[in-house]
Amino acid sequence: MDVCPFCRARLNQLDSERDDGRLGYITEVWIGVCQICGWWNARGEARERIDRYTTAVFELGSFGVLKNLDLTNVETPLQEVRDYLTAKYEHRLQMDPRLFELTVGSVFADHGYVSEVTAYSGDGGIDVILIAGETRIGVQVKRWKDRIEATQIHALSGAMVLAGLTRGMFVTTSSFRSGAIKDANRFSALGMPIELLDAPRFFDALKISQTKVNRSADEWITKIKPHLRKFGSFNDLDEGRFYED
Ligand SMILES: [Zn+2]
Repeated sequence: MDVCPFCRARLNQLDSERDDGRLGYITEVWIGVCQICGWWNARGEARERIDRYTTAVFELGSFGVLKNLDLTNVETPLQEVRDYLTAKYEHRLQMDPRLFELTVGSVFADHGYVSEVTAYSGDGGIDVILIAGETRIGVQVKRWKDRIEATQIHALSGAMVLAGLTRGMFVTTSSFRSGAIKDANRFSALGMPIELLDAPRFFDALKISQTKVNRSADEWITKIKPHLRKFGSFNDLDEGRFYED
């Protein structure tokens, strides 16, 4: 397995881990990790020297894990949310709306912005402010099933004016009605650009931010180690095959 089944990225192979297994086998475990969504796969093999010329190699099987997450819990660590969303973007509507705002802030922080998620108001205000040098962008975030209407763009522009912001962005888990797109273009023509990110465009931004996540080999090992005990209970050694040196 060298491609992630969720996001099709190539897996990074970590150096193999060796362990003296039970029954005198030498067990070796290979771990492949996905940089983009955090999925990982482990594959184990046991070897036993039969005589000077022959080594028995037993495939111990393989398994992969992507943690299931509770997207309604606003306390869920944001990196885990991002990993999970990257792999299972179709679950985005299950997210707590506040958790989605925090996730948007976290994603744009990895795009080079200082991001400030504003106090939760739950109304049409500015949810996130993105800052890069002199640039300040007021972001409205809507975890929303229905398409965004022109009136919601108007509400954002009003909130921008009140906050003294001249640039805006609207991020949604759905899409925009043509009237909303038209009015966003009109605001842009008036010197108040509003960028629209529908579900596919935010997904692209999410995937790019995931390439910037620092995942060291040590972190992976720490995360994966507890699961490797499962290899201790593999008993299907019938599938072992012999080959000669
Ligand atoms: Zn992946």
